[in-house]
Amino acid sequence: MNILLTNDDGIDAVGLATLRRALEGFGDLWVVAPEREQSAASHALTLLDPLRVRRLGERAFTVSGTPTDCVLVAVRGIHGLMEPKPDLVISGINQGPNMGDDVTYSGTVAAAIEGRLLGLPALAFSNAAWHPEQWDASAEVVRRILKLFLGDPRLSDALVNVNIPDLPLEGILGVCVTHLGKRRYRDEIEARTDPRGRMYYWIGGEPPVWEPDPLSDFGAVSSGYVSVTPLRMDWTARDAFELFAPWERSWGARSGCESSEKPR
Ligand code: MN
Repeated sequence: MNILLTNDDGIDAVGLATLRRALEGFGDLWVVAPEREQSAASHALTLLDPLRVRRLGERAFTVSGTPTDCVLVAVRGIHGLMEPKPDLVISGINQGPNMGDDVTYSGTVAAAIEGRLLGLPALAFSNAAWHPEQWDASAEVVRRILKLFLGDPRLSDALVNVNIPDLPLEGILGVCVTHLGKRRYRDEIEARTDPRGRMYYWIGGEPPVWEPDPLSDFGAVSSGYVSVTPLRMDWTARDAFELFAPWERSWGARSGCESSEKPR
């Protein structure tokens, strides 16, 4: 089996080295990772700049772009870069959580999404601490999760987001299947002044705060469980169809798409 490893923290990240070490023996491991950190790159593609690919070893490359670029280049793009093509895409292990609403910003999750869009099963792993100390435990969790994943052929088109509490293995209570949690937004943009007296802004600072919800990813991780959230690509809010149906009717019956039979 060919496994493509990538991340958004960049080629030199401890989490990527940990992932690679964790997966020794699972198959042929290929690393195609951003040459620089791309955290919060989301699902961005680089369209206006050239992508430079640098070979670091027989199965290791950097790309001068985003995590999504890396997966695309590895799977589709570059002649001879990854032959044969991957059977599985694994992104991570991210330094810091990728939970709830923040999944939309995540370069780690986006790399897995790109894998899924290209027809491959894909997993994203994050250590939920901003400064992880338990990388060995995270590696063991990755191995256990991957064994479960590969053991069930029904998961061959799955997209899975895994967040691991930064605890020693004996402190991890188990696995919890969760939904995405709800982030509480706060003022997080700092205004500063540069040496020439001009204002500038910096996003971030405080760690995110979450709505309490024991069945969410955040709830599970904060109770000491590994959070496993199966994701889907279809963002359609089927439960909102009813609210928008009057828009169809307001333009008359000729639109031809009105149907009470629309799938929910
Ligand atoms: Mn990151």
